[in-house]
Amino acid sequence: MSSETNLPTRQRRVNSNFITEIIDEDLRQRRYAKIVTRFPPEPNGYLHIGHAKSICLNFGLALDYGGECNLRFDDTNPETESIEYVDAAKRDVQWLGVQWARELYASDYFERLYEFAVQLITDGKAYVDSLSDEEISEYRGTVTQPGKPSPYRDRSVEENLELFRHMRDGGFPDGAHVLRAKIDLASRNMKLRDPVLYRIVHAPHYHAGDAWCIYPLYDFAHPLSDAIEGISHSICTLEFENNRAIYDWLLENLRGKCGLPHAPRPYQYEFARLNLDYTVLSKRKLIKLVDGRHVQGWDDPRLPTLSGVRRRGVTPEAIREFCYRIGVAKTNSRVDLGIFEAAVRDDLNHRAPRVLAVLRPLKVVLTNYPGGKVEQLEAPYWPHDVPKEGWRQVPFSRELYIERDDFMEHPPKGFHRLVPGGHVRLRHAYVIRCDEVVKNASGEIAELHCTYDPDTIGKNPAGGAPKGTIHWVCAPHAVKAEVRLYDRLFGVADPEAGGGEFTAYLNPASLTVVEGYVEPSVLQDPPATRYQFERLGYFWQDPEDSRPGDLVFNRIVTLRDSWTKAQRK
Ligand code: ATP
Ligand code: MG
Repeated sequence: MSSETNLPTRQRRVNSNFITEIIDEDLRQRRYAKIVTRFPPEPNGYLHIGHAKSICLNFGLALDYGGECNLRFDDTNPETESIEYVDAAKRDVQWLGVQWARELYASDYFERLYEFAVQLITDGKAYVDSLSDEEISEYRGTVTQPGKPSPYRDRSVEENLELFRHMRDGGFPDGAHVLRAKIDLASRNMKLRDPVLYRIVHAPHYHAGDAWCIYPLYDFAHPLSDAIEGISHSICTLEFENNRAIYDWLLENLRGKCGLPHAPRPYQYEFARLNLDYTVLSKRKLIKLVDGRHVQGWDDPRLPTLSGVRRRGVTPEAIREFCYRIGVAKTNSRVDLGIFEAAVRDDLNHRAPRVLAVLRPLKVVLTNYPGGKVEQLEAPYWPHDVPKEGWRQVPFSRELYIERDDFMEHPPKGFHRLVPGGHVRLRHAYVIRCDEVVKNASGEIAELHCTYDPDTIGKNPAGGAPKGTIHWVCAPHAVKAEVRLYDRLFGVADPEAGGGEFTAYLNPASLTVVEGYVEPSVLQDPPATRYQFERLGYFWQDPEDSRPGDLVFNRIVTLRDSWTKAQRK
């Protein structure tokens, strides 16, 4: 055990949970010399925040216990997998800030897996079945009725070996035969009713090429890959609970054979998968959103994919903190999106300098400010409660933009922003008074004529402090930018529970694009700087579409959860 296990809890990557208890006990009993875990994505889609939970758990345990975690591509389905998904997964795992001990491919074990299958046949524990898929499921029975044996169940070892070899050699078309384990057709666990281990698929494999036309199923490949790699704790999600019996059956029947050690052997443990409100965490569903063009690609910032949240501006630290906070449990539940957003805000609060931007501009003309004059005002980047220092200069002149929402001609009670005849403080600048509302021909407010009080920098006017402070930018100096305001991808918390197609619940307002103005200091910063636009939220430049002279900002997250309130109205 490494000395890291003695760290105080918060310095550990994984919060104590039922799996850490199991590992602690295994180490006390000296069952393993080293903790070895794996993160085993199937390269058939992009990784999402649910995978991040598994990554943080598997890599975190390896770090906390001084062990190792492998990245293994569980690639046994040639028809849905591709190198694009492998590359994306590697990028995403690296981005999360963890380092795999070894990069492995289940498809590299195809030859060994074939030998294991031959061993099972030789031991009379597997047989080639020639029933069709439909017949196999019909013969399997139901939860209340035991299955009945296939007429091919009692083929001789020789015949099975011959047929299996011929399957491998390409002598049969897809679906002609399968290899099945001979376990128990009456088992209450349906998975144990002679599970299929191999099927014929005449399709090339992105990694193994066209060497194979039979492919192992997950239930066969997974435990044996774990055993080959010397995994100690094989952690998966709860839906695999019933598959654990096959996992154990295979390892009990093959340990000590075909080069597998007799002990120690890996064991499977299941934890609750992450379900996050207002989104879907399933590659199959995410593919539908991408292929159906409901979003603009795998890295659309509205998606819960790691490439999507990365592009949106969320940091890997925030994701890891989120995974730490939600912990690991044995029962499925849904996680409030607010918990995710709180982790994102808490992370950005300490890394995002505050700057001024106006998203829905309303022009203000300061009638008593000399035309042509420009002042540079000093503005701190950080509020008092963030222990950081730093200043920048913001230009100030006769023409400004304020937020349209910060002015009301006929305000309700309690509106503390700008109103006709009223005062307001401009953040880091002067107190102004609204003297006149100028309208266009169609009666809309075109601009405001205001006066500023030159003696109010850093002090209050004689009449006392104005009730409100609003943000602004200097019209001739501000940088015009496209700003993408992202909202929840779905309009309901659980889009999978509503019945019907989940895409019916997409939030039509998940993206709003506005043209805003940002203070010019941002041009001095590295493009990847994350900001808080004061009173508006956290933003950064879209890494794909933003160009010098043509800036595009993504809203990473709002400043607080305004959604719940809006829904109740
Ligand atoms: P999906 O339904 O998204 O396709 P999957 O389980 O098929 O998910 P894999 O690529 O097989 O995806 O998953 C790799 C690992 O990540 C597995 O160990 C799986 O259990 C885990 N995982 C997948 N989704 C989640 C989730 N939502 N929460 C926690 N772990 C997950
Ligand atoms: Mg899977």
